[in-house]
Amino acid sequence: MKIGFYPGSFDPITFGHIDIVARGRLLFDKLYVAISNNPNKKTMFSAEERLQLVREALKDFPNVDVILSDKLTVQHCIELGASHVLRGLRAVTDYDYEFQLTNFNRHISHKIDTVFLMTEGKYSFLSSSSVRELAAFGGDVTPFVPANVKAAMDQKYQSVRP
Ligand code: ADP
Repeated sequence: MKIGFYPGSFDPITFGHIDIVARGRLLFDKLYVAISNNPNKKTMFSAEERLQLVREALKDFPNVDVILSDKLTVQHCIELGASHVLRGLRAVTDYDYEFQLTNFNRHISHKIDTVFLMTEGKYSFLSSSSVRELAAFGGDVTPFVPANVKAAMDQKYQSVRP
């Protein structure tokens, strides 16, 4: 069985991430979407909240499992029997970071390789941080995130907006 592992913060999950999952899952029998649970990193949504939001957003993909991860990517892949890490690439600006990360992971274990999918052009400008910023200033995030994420963002910002 071919198993893939798609790690990220997903704070929050966007249509760009969902596009990578929709296409990436076709490369594997099973794809784990692993939400990083790093207590030192400040996030808009807690790990538990992100888990619920991502599960809801990906519920129609039968071979996709959403999990939390507080381990090294390579370590977690080995434990789950995953052979490949899946990552999305947007503009050339992603390349440097991904190049570093891939080589770091390869240094830890040669058994785990990384595959990249290019984002659809229409999502190439889309990032979780820009969606968070838009929401913070009262903008409409409807075109960028699923309805359950929009509702959760509206609720988060309700308390801070006049
Ligand atoms: P990280 O904190 O690991 O960067 P993200 O949740 O921001 O986590 O991203 C996880 C993965 O999804 C990364 O490979 C990132 O490049 C990819 N990604 C993020 N946004 C998009 C998008 N709009 N289109 C395609 N891939 C994306």
